[in-house]
Amino acid sequence: MAQGSRIEWTEATWNPVAGCTPVSPGCLNCYAARMALRLSHMPNGTGEKYANTAKRARNGRPVFSGHINLDKKALDLPRSWKLGRTIFVNSMSDLFHDGVPDKFIQQVFRVMEECPQHRFQVLTKRPERALDMARNDQLPWADNIWMGTSVETRTYYERIRLLQRIPAKVRFLSCEPLLGPLKRMPLAGIHWVIVGGESGPHSRSMQGSWVLEIKEQCESREVPFFFKQWGGTNKKEAGRELGGKTWSQMPQSVQSTIRVLPPTIQVPAVARRVLALVGHPSHGKKTDSQATSSESQDRSPPRSCGSRGAKSRPPEQGNSKPRFLGGGGAENLLGVVRRRNSVSSVRRCLSV
Ligand code: SF4
Repeated sequence: MAQGSRIEWTEATWNPVAGCTPVSPGCLNCYAARMALRLSHMPNGTGEKYANTAKRARNGRPVFSGHINLDKKALDLPRSWKLGRTIFVNSMSDLFHDGVPDKFIQQVFRVMEECPQHRFQVLTKRPERALDMARNDQLPWADNIWMGTSVETRTYYERIRLLQRIPAKVRFLSCEPLLGPLKRMPLAGIHWVIVGGESGPHSRSMQGSWVLEIKEQCESREVPFFFKQWGGTNKKEAGRELGGKTWSQMPQSVQSTIRVLPPTIQVPAVARRVLALVGHPSHGKKTDSQATSSESQDRSPPRSCGSRGAKSRPPEQGNSKPRFLGGGGAENLLGVVRRRNSVSSVRRCLSV
């Protein structure tokens, strides 16, 4: 699992499956195939995970081979993250690929259901299988499991119609890479639309009028709209502004789906040393007013460290994201101390 993600509409990625097969024109320049080919040459477990999943086509482009590897060790990773975050499930494959056994998909769903502190974004180009499994009551559709499908041209509206019948609390569309105009989209029962142009080598261009047309449809149906990027070979330079502003709306139920588990925090050694330096609350002398204010803080619900109230608000309202006490807990903690020079921030991080 990657704790941070460069994908604008998520916070982390989790990949219990490696490998895929192209299914439609949107797959032509699949970034995941490019990455998988590169990762398969790594010497460690990563190389093993992606072994044989991708190859070079005759024209030299990386493509998925259709070979699927299941990473059972990755299954439980979300459980180890106590602070809630938004997680893109299988950014490097498609969970509903034929090569992934039903049982494994069910295990992935069980982990998602049992980690209510996170929001999981499952994106597929194979919603027919997701619907089949939903119909057969094979999957638990917990509120924190978002289900999405990709729509790159009008030809794939059928995917939306299948998605509309899946009982996920949040259903979303990823119109990326957008390869043509999407007029009169069937948006009933859709809670979020992401739009983006293709990026990387050989990227196909996207017209601004196509994006505006989708935005207008979203506005008239009150569907949150997220404009991810213009894309191109230099996506940073092209940016993600549309009409002079960024569009990062999120589904309205974001706030109600966030829950934070009671902290069962193991204080890292470095953090303990920091605390020793800045002083533990029970060791320091306080004035009456300081004591009162810190006690009232202690009684209030745990807050995300280093970003006031960030975890209770949708990402578009602020850039701060809860990032603490995951794998880099100690480093982050030190970052808080350096940035804010605030003893109370440190204490809140450690819930002491
Ligand atoms: S379905 Fe997604 S991961 Fe699979 S080849 Fe197509 S774009 Fe790549």
